Parts: sequence; C-alpha cells; structure tokens
Amino acid sequence: MKKIMMKEDGIGLAGPQVGESKRLIAVFFDGQPEVFLNPRILRKSRKTEIMEEGCLSFPGLFLKIKRAKEIDLEFVDLNNIKKRMNLEGLSARVFQHEIDHLDGMLFINRISLPKKLWRLLKN
Ligand SMILES: [Zn+2]
Repeated sequence: MKKIMMKEDGIGLAGPQVGESKRLIAVFFDGQPEVFLNPRILRKSRKTEIMEEGCLSFPGLFLKIKRAKEIDLEFVDLNNIKKRMNLEGLSARVFQHEIDHLDGMLFINRISLPKKLWRLLKN
C-alpha cells in the first residue's frame, strides 16, 4: 500500500481503494509513508476548516470539503501497539478522508447535490 501511494503521488490511501478489506490506511506522515491499522477518531474538534481535497480514486477532481480542524486518533501500529495522537490541519484532514473510505464514505458524498450540479455546470 505504501508503494501504491508513493507511485500515485498520494498523501493517503485506504484499504478498500486497493481491494483490501481490513481496516487499514497508508498516510504520508512526518515525511514518510506509514501504515495505520484500525484507525478510529476518538474526538473531533467543533472548529471546522474548509480546504480543497483530492482523492486517488478520482484523479483530477478537487473539492472544497469542510472537516474538523483537529482530531484525536487511536490506531494500532505495525508492531501491534495501540497508540493515540492528536492531529490538526492537513494531517487531521488526511486521516478523516481515509477513515471515511473505510466506512464507505467518499468525499464526493460530503458535498450537497446542488453544489455538485453547480460544479458540473461550471466545468
Ligand atoms: Zn480518497
């Protein structure tokens, strides 16, 4: 998964995107690709942030998506150790996006239908 992510120039990839049914994601984190097992968001900040997002499943599509600015994340690392960390900004966003994939939620489902239509008409 790390390899695919690097090859595709992505900053995140979720198991379901590569036919992997386990709850795992690969994220470019702290300057290197890392795998996170069973990632779970324990807390989302009430403060949100709107940023443009892309997705390896939708090449060339970028959408402005509103997400929590900060999250507390729990996961299991490759040594099978359960860890927690606090993330904000872009890294918080990448994890929220990838965990959405694990739950079958795509970023295009995070914007309303009128917005989608408007974008289609605009392009
Ligand atoms: Zn994606």
